[in-house]
Amino acid sequence: MGGMMPPSSSSPGTCFSALSRLQQGLAQLEADEVLRSRLLLESPQGVNVRVNGRDVISFCSNDYLGLANEPALTAAAEQLLRQCGLGAGASHLITGHHVLHQQFEDAFAAFVGKPAALLFSTGYMANLGVLTALLDRHGEVFADKLNHASLNDAAQLCGATFSRYGHGNIDQLESLLAKSRERTKLIVSDLVFSMDGDIVDVDGLLSLAERYDAWLFLDDAHGFGVLNDGRGGLTQAARQSDRVIYLATLGKAAGVFGAALAAHQSVIQWLVQKARPYVYTTAMPPLLAGALLESLKLIQAGGARRDRLRRHVAALRRGLADWPRWQLLHSTTPIQPLVVGSNANAVNVSKKLLERGLLVPAIRTPTVPRNTARLRITLSSAHREEDIVRLCDALHEIAET
Ligand SMILES: *Cc1c(COP(=O)(O)O)cnc(C)c1O
Repeated sequence: MGGMMPPSSSSPGTCFSALSRLQQGLAQLEADEVLRSRLLLESPQGVNVRVNGRDVISFCSNDYLGLANEPALTAAAEQLLRQCGLGAGASHLITGHHVLHQQFEDAFAAFVGKPAALLFSTGYMANLGVLTALLDRHGEVFADKLNHASLNDAAQLCGATFSRYGHGNIDQLESLLAKSRERTKLIVSDLVFSMDGDIVDVDGLLSLAERYDAWLFLDDAHGFGVLNDGRGGLTQAARQSDRVIYLATLGKAAGVFGAALAAHQSVIQWLVQKARPYVYTTAMPPLLAGALLESLKLIQAGGARRDRLRRHVAALRRGLADWPRWQLLHSTTPIQPLVVGSNANAVNVSKKLLERGLLVPAIRTPTVPRNTARLRITLSSAHREEDIVRLCDALHEIAET
């Protein structure tokens, strides 16, 4: 080489300051006991899984109906793979929009009781898409403080004024709406709160949306497939309202992948034009849309699975009732959070459960408010009754040591 060497940050011995700041940041996370690591799943998703080299009973997936590895569904996917190949190869607006995507959208809209639907690759992208397509800096987003992170990110990205109200605090929401001078208002909430398991007052929010001329966007990631015969948490009034935009994610109870929005036809048309996470991305593989059509049938015929799930929820709540030590939050859904206090305590209990072959994740600050670190127990219709008994017994045992 003839020329001068450029000043290189990667030559040995020199300091790359941005990288060392990352390393300090990681060390700080570790010191604060909030450094996160990933478990290695070595089996299909389900209740009995192999994780980090050991067989455990899992209480932490969102596979509420046990569909992620349901034979009827995986067989359909194999068949579909041969029929329509693997990759979508293009975005929906070029040549990626397959008849299976369209069929799923039509079937989904009919099932949840809305005029039209739109399939996204993930719930995260759908949330970014809705808020950025409907709002700009002349808008205002009114959001429950416990909403999912993807909704908060979407609100930041769309440039609207971002106003948060206390969890479930309808009065505070009303006073924020009454004060607002923005042109477009949108109320957004988780329908089932992902870390608490409680269900929002849909009709309460809808009447405020009507009174203050706002959109109401409901993210039902954890209710679709589970509530109301699988249709999710919309009420009759919300199904009929043009103001309501409904999101179901399809990687949870539906057992596959993706997310679907359902709304008035004009909303869906607008999103096809304007939702950037829809327009500028490759379509979901069509075989997954075909698998989702099968999943929809299983959800519709899933009364027995939902009954089992309800019985498991009741059994867990009985098993941990009237317990002064740790408090099970009030929840009727398969998300059953047990609040144990500090981050360290949550990690410790989770570790002791794992030693007993029970996998329950510790959810720590900052994902949840300070000193409400919890074990997020999620139940599946695929659990057996004795799994629930084992978990309750283990928790009582650990509490006494
Ligand atoms: C899981 C979840 C999402 C994200 O959905 P993905 O399809 O996993 O991206 C959005 N909102 C809520 C409330 C969720 O729980």
